[in-house]
Amino acid sequence: MSKLVSIVIPAHNEEENVVVIINRIKQVFEKLPYAYEIIIVDDGCKDSTLLIVKQLAAENHHIFYIELSRNFGHQPALKAGLDHAKGDCVISLDADLQHPPELFVEMLAKWEEGYDVVYTRRQEDMSLSMRKRKTSVYFYKLLNSLSDTEIEPGTADFRLMDRKVVDIFKEFKENDLFIRGMVKWLGFTQFAIDYMPSKRFAGSSKYNLSKMRKLAVHGVTSLSVKPLHTAVYLGFFISLLSLLYVPYVAYAYFFAKHVNGWASLIVTVAFFGGLQLIILGIIGIYIGKMFMQSKNRPTYIIRSTNIKRD
Ligand code: UDP
Ligand code: MG
Repeated sequence: MSKLVSIVIPAHNEEENVVVIINRIKQVFEKLPYAYEIIIVDDGCKDSTLLIVKQLAAENHHIFYIELSRNFGHQPALKAGLDHAKGDCVISLDADLQHPPELFVEMLAKWEEGYDVVYTRRQEDMSLSMRKRKTSVYFYKLLNSLSDTEIEPGTADFRLMDRKVVDIFKEFKENDLFIRGMVKWLGFTQFAIDYMPSKRFAGSSKYNLSKMRKLAVHGVTSLSVKPLHTAVYLGFFISLLSLLYVPYVAYAYFFAKHVNGWASLIVTVAFFGGLQLIILGIIGIYIGKMFMQSKNRPTYIIRSTNIKRD
């Protein structure tokens, strides 16, 4: 029997894209010696995405859907798909056709060579806005300087994972997901393929600047506790620096009649007040995460699906 490849696609209001992407995937598999299943995860869509997928699923036994009870976000939606995929390997990609399904051929070839994870690296896309490209570059710089797990620029959730990797990933009980970092952390043998991203086919991007910022904070704090160490080093550094001030204070005490210092005082107080709040906030983020995790709530909730449990 031929090997089964699962395709997982999280979708949030992608009614114009689902039919196109499913057709493209079908065409790719016509030339490949694999059985396949396509799992569309409906992440709280407000449009007719689910209706369309349900219709397609009725005609085509390769197509499955998982309807989440509300919008949980891209990462939990992807986790839902990975948890329910049955394939010998699982490929995840976005619904908007920015990730070309034609790359599957190369990814599967590398998998057959023995790689456990085949991930993709987006080449610089000149059609993206300058701001988006710049934010992406800074995003990774910041992420890597603050985190222990190295994340390469241009990697998104377009990757192939072998069954054994997916099975281990399924055991992860953390609800604070940053999947690309977690997969890198897992190790195994990983291979990168570079590709040119296509333009979003239809609809609009669901990631705006504030979501990017959230993802950055989230990425750093879910992968490491390095920011806490940074606070300690910063504290030591500033304490040492303040020693430089001692001679001046001694001089002023013994020799100066009037000491002018209002301006420097107010600047120092405001600066360190701010710094303390920032560090308190960082500690707060970690405590918040512990609080959320301690509730042990499910990462996502399924409203309906046509995937049968075995
Ligand atoms: N997505 C999702 N839930 C969300 C936001 C996005 O499932 O809350 C899906 C979306 O349908 C797409 C993928 O995640 O398949 C990537 O989203 P998008 O294309 O908006 O992000 P970008 O490519 O701009 O980073
Ligand atoms: Mg996109």
